Amino acid sequence: MSKLSEAIANICEKRQWLYKPILLMESGAKKLIFRCQDCGQCVLSQNAFTCCMRCPKQIRNGPCGGTRPNGRCEVYPNRACIWWLIHRRAKRLGVVHKLKKYHIPADRRLQYTSAWMNMFAGRILPLQLGKKPKEVTLTKKDPPPLR
Ligand code: SF4
Ligand code: SF4
Repeated sequence: MSKLSEAIANICEKRQWLYKPILLMESGAKKLIFRCQDCGQCVLSQNAFTCCMRCPKQIRNGPCGGTRPNGRCEVYPNRACIWWLIHRRAKRLGVVHKLKKYHIPADRRLQYTSAWMNMFAGRILPLQLGKKPKEVTLTKKDPPPLR
């Protein structure tokens, strides 16, 4: 994101006593509000604030092709397909075009790490709150030193 945010992430990630509370706070809040699955690479702001990792196949780029005609999931017919929900919410928010952005596959090394810190460090895309998706170059590839 910026030199300052990278420095903040660097300080927090090297100190367990600082990193753990941030991780617990982020995870707790996101679990409560978005049913977060702790992927560490948050794409909520690109997906109309609906967590795509709730899909049983954890597909990050649109539905698997098995969505039932009534919008239910092919794996769990008692649940709505998460991508059906994402599309419906994106339509309401007027951000369907943001769903066209391709997401790189999830890096499993980042699972159970803080997406906030990963964002500060430049490992994952920043929040995309505007209507237009921004093109961003990621600076870091390595996972954080602490989990
Ligand atoms: S995209 Fe990842 S970090 Fe964001 S809410 Fe879903 S599981 Fe959590
Ligand atoms: S139907 Fe939707 S929620 Fe179910 S596995 Fe396919 S993409 Fe995921």
